[in-house]
Amino acid sequence: QEPTDLNLLADEYLRLAYHGLRANDKSFNATLIMDFDEHLGKVTVVPQDLGRVLLNLFTNAFYATEEKRKTGLAGYQPTVQVSTKRIAGDKIEIRVRDNGCGIPQSVLTKIYQPFFTTKPTGQGTGLGLSLSYDIVTKGHGGELTVDTEEGEFTEFVIQLPG
Ligand code: ADP
Ligand code: MG
Repeated sequence: QEPTDLNLLADEYLRLAYHGLRANDKSFNATLIMDFDEHLGKVTVVPQDLGRVLLNLFTNAFYATEEKRKTGLAGYQPTVQVSTKRIAGDKIEIRVRDNGCGIPQSVLTKIYQPFFTTKPTGQGTGLGLSLSYDIVTKGHGGELTVDTEEGEFTEFVIQLPG
């Protein structure tokens, strides 16, 4: 573990995810909104591990916007938002929100199961969220929660001691 600038980490991984997807598919497009708490300070984490969590959450978020875009909704603007915030003095929060397809209730109960995926073969291993959950909870003593509305949005919230 080492003191880490989570704003910088989130910024880097969001761009990495976005440009990685665009490199594969020139038609892929999304608005990125970054809302970083300038007073976050450094947080002691395993940067590579937390980076994997963020990369997975961002990739999932972009994928969800693509799913919604494919439904041909008029005027739809795919948007992924990441924010950081210091809460209650000794806790920090990272939110990853997309305005994509959302998660139906029947799927929501399974998202943290290893190998659970709704993606076509070859597009997802189903390991991202199970790994992310372990990294945040067991690896960092934090919490990973989700709020979603089918067809509207999904928001994952990471809370970490720090
Ligand atoms: P994978 O991305 O390989 O499918 P994950 O563990 O990352 O595996 O996610 C498991 C499943 O959770 C996904 O297949 C998808 O059904 C659902 N999911 C995760 N994030 C989102 C999101 N932002 N919007 C909608 N569905 C999501
Ligand atoms: Mg994933």
